Amino acid sequence: MEKSSNKVGAYAVQCEKCSKWRLIPSKEEYEAIRQNLIEDPWFCHKKPNISCDDPCDIEYDNSRVWALDKPNLPKTPAGAQRLLSMRSDYSKMDVYYNMPNGKKLRSTVEVERFFEVYPEFKSTMSPADFSFTSPKIPEEMIPEGIEVKSSSVKRIRQ
Ligand SMILES: [Zn+2]
Repeated sequence: MEKSSNKVGAYAVQCEKCSKWRLIPSKEEYEAIRQNLIEDPWFCHKKPNISCDDPCDIEYDNSRVWALDKPNLPKTPAGAQRLLSMRSDYSKMDVYYNMPNGKKLRSTVEVERFFEVYPEFKSTMSPADFSFTSPKIPEEMIPEGIEVKSSSVKRIRQ
């Protein structure tokens, strides 16, 4: 996965066989692949008219910031939206959900409360559909000029 500004700009998956990165056109498709990635690894041939012999869609390099998702996160229930926001110091991406009724959920506790207050949503979704596991930002992706100290990130003054 890749981001531009502080939002995700594009989605990519890696082929299990040739290790090339392929762009996935929509977030929905990306989430569908991600939810079963361990049991059902992804291969180039799953993309129409593409095989492992074709050049990669996108290079894993630091011309852009990559954030690597954990596999097998639950697919976002229909009507809800799972959004990621990069902190300005690149220390972390925050995960939140926009719900169909306009509510914003930022933690498991908020999800539980939401279903208590709005039990009508239990017919189409469940608390297990929500994950706040944020993607990992590899250290080599942190832009130059930002100094990394242990697990925190500090901006260097010029
Ligand atoms: Zn491949």
